[in-house]
Amino acid sequence: MTESLTGPEGATPQCRRLTGRTAVVTGAGSGIGLASARRLASEGAKVVCADVDGERGKKAAEETGGLYVETDVTDSEQVEALFRTAHETYGSVDIAFNNAGISPPDDDSILTTGIDAWQRVQQVNLTSVYLCCKHAIPYMQRQGRGSIINTASFVAVLGAATSQISYTASKGGVLAMSRELGVQFAREGIRVNAICPGPVNTPLLKELFAKDPERAQRRLVHVPPGRFAEPEEIAAAVAFLASDDASFVNATDFMVDGGISGAYVTPV
Ligand code: NAD
Repeated sequence: MTESLTGPEGATPQCRRLTGRTAVVTGAGSGIGLASARRLASEGAKVVCADVDGERGKKAAEETGGLYVETDVTDSEQVEALFRTAHETYGSVDIAFNNAGISPPDDDSILTTGIDAWQRVQQVNLTSVYLCCKHAIPYMQRQGRGSIINTASFVAVLGAATSQISYTASKGGVLAMSRELGVQFAREGIRVNAICPGPVNTPLLKELFAKDPERAQRRLVHVPPGRFAEPEEIAAAVAFLASDDASFVNATDFMVDGGISGAYVTPV
């Protein structure tokens, strides 16, 4: 029998591709960010956990043996301080996983979404990525090395009749920005990719769909595997993009969506 490379289901992966690297993770307190902070740490990285939620952010840092830096990713000075602190503490900034994001209920159809909701989502989901890249890249230029992973979404490449108009537009912006930066800085040893997760089984989603199974079904029918992703499945892709295994993967829209974006008719 061939042994699985990742061990039994749910076990910590055994590869250590990130020893000696410093990774900054925004939105590290929950969901995809937390799973990724765990995964990057398990592969040997020193992890700097950034979040606005002090309790959850500190917990993530304790668990991963890293550092918590309270950061509102919409604030330029705080983001600048985040990357400076990472560099001062660990001596390098090798990986930036710019992941914090929101999808509030008042961001809905264009007909009902007000300018405040529109702007708040743009700030947290798109301006934050601009700020994180702006403040991470100079360290990476000096090192001649770096991997930036920006969280977009499958909705950046697919239209949804269940609209969240500002969210979708913000994620489209993340894709375009990541592509441009990946091209601009490639000859300085810096790779910039956008990751596009499909719908993920986060606590919020579970709660929402437990209350409203029809709403879950409306979406699940479009997902070829017939289930949502687990945060650890996104984290595995983040670790790959962060590592030298992805040394020729740059400026891409990296889909981790179970095939939603390739599907017409799904299996029954
Ligand atoms: P989550 O709500 O579980 O975690 C987001 C984290 O970001 C939280 O810890 C929150 O405190 C933090 N955060 C929010 N605003 C912040 C701010 N201004 N500054 C710093 N931190 C802030 O979300 P998640 O589901 O893990 O999503 C993470 C990313 O993945 C987001 O960008 C989201 O848009 C994207 N995404 C999620 C899904 C999904 O189905 N969950 C699918 C595709 C893309």
